[in-house]
Amino acid sequence: MSARAVVKVVDAVRTVEGAGFVVRRPFPVAGFSHFDPFLLVDEMGPVELPPGEAKGAPDHPHRGFETVSYILEGQAQHEDSAGHAGVLGPGDVQWMTAGAGVVHSEMPSPEFSREGGRMHGFQIWVNLPRRDKMMAPRYQEIPAARIPVASTPDGSVRVKVIAGESLGARAVIDTRTPIQYLHFTLQPGARFEQPVPREHNVFAYVFGGEGTFGPEGARAVDGQAVLFAHDADSVVMTATGSEPLQLLLLSGVPLKEPVVRYGPFVMNTQAEILQAFEDYQSGRMGRIER
Ligand code: FE
Repeated sequence: MSARAVVKVVDAVRTVEGAGFVVRRPFPVAGFSHFDPFLLVDEMGPVELPPGEAKGAPDHPHRGFETVSYILEGQAQHEDSAGHAGVLGPGDVQWMTAGAGVVHSEMPSPEFSREGGRMHGFQIWVNLPRRDKMMAPRYQEIPAARIPVASTPDGSVRVKVIAGESLGARAVIDTRTPIQYLHFTLQPGARFEQPVPREHNVFAYVFGGEGTFGPEGARAVDGQAVLFAHDADSVVMTATGSEPLQLLLLSGVPLKEPVVRYGPFVMNTQAEILQAFEDYQSGRMGRIER
C-alpha cells in the first residue's frame, strides 16, 4: 500500500484573537479559507504568561458548526448560555456543537490569571452538515484521563485519540460526521503510517520538531500544515529532526456544501447569516447567567 501524496505545505500565520492573545493559524488565511469540513485551526502559544497577562475570548455567539478545544498546558475556563461551565486543564478536550446557537465565553481561570504560567492549546472549528446546523447545542467534555492513548511496542510513536481510531485505540468522543483528530508524538527517526479512509480530506499540523511526509518525503517543520491528496488510504510520516515530531492529524468526510461564514456564524446561505445576526441580537441564542 502506498501512502497519500502531499499536495501542499502551508505556513501558519500569526494573528491576534479574542481579547488580544496571539495564535498561529494555518487557516483561514487569505487564499485558504477552509479545508472541508474543517473551518479553522488556531494554536494558542506556547507562551509564558506573567501574572495578570492571560487573555481570553469574552461572551460571543456561535451557530452552525462545532468548536473543539484541546489544552496542552495551562488552564481555560468556559461558560455558555446553555448552562455549561468548567475548567479545562492539560490534556482535556471540550467538543462543543453550537448547532442553532450558544453564547460562549472562554477565559483564563482566575487562578491561572492571577499566577500566570505557560499556556499552550488548540481550537479547531468543524463544520456541521446542513441537516445539523440548527440542532440543539451539545457538549462533550472529556478529561485527559479518559482520552485513549496508544503507543507502538518500542514506544517511538505515541498517539492520543481525540476522535477516530489509531493503533487499536478508539476515541470516546462522538462526532456528527466521521472525523479523525489524532495527536502524534514521534521520537527522532520514527516512521509511522496511519490509515485514513479514502473519502476523507486529511491534513497534518506540525507544532514541534520536523518531519517528512508522503511517499516523496515532503518536509514540514514546526508551524506548518501538510495537505494530502486523495490517492491512497493512509498517510506516512517520519520524524527527521533531533527533537520529537509533534503533530495533529485531522481528517474528515468533506461536506461539499456551500460555506457562508461571517465571524462566529457559519451557514449555507447569506440569508441564514442575516437570520443568525437577528437571532443573536434579539437574544434568541440566550445569554450567560452570572
Ligand atoms: Fe467560542
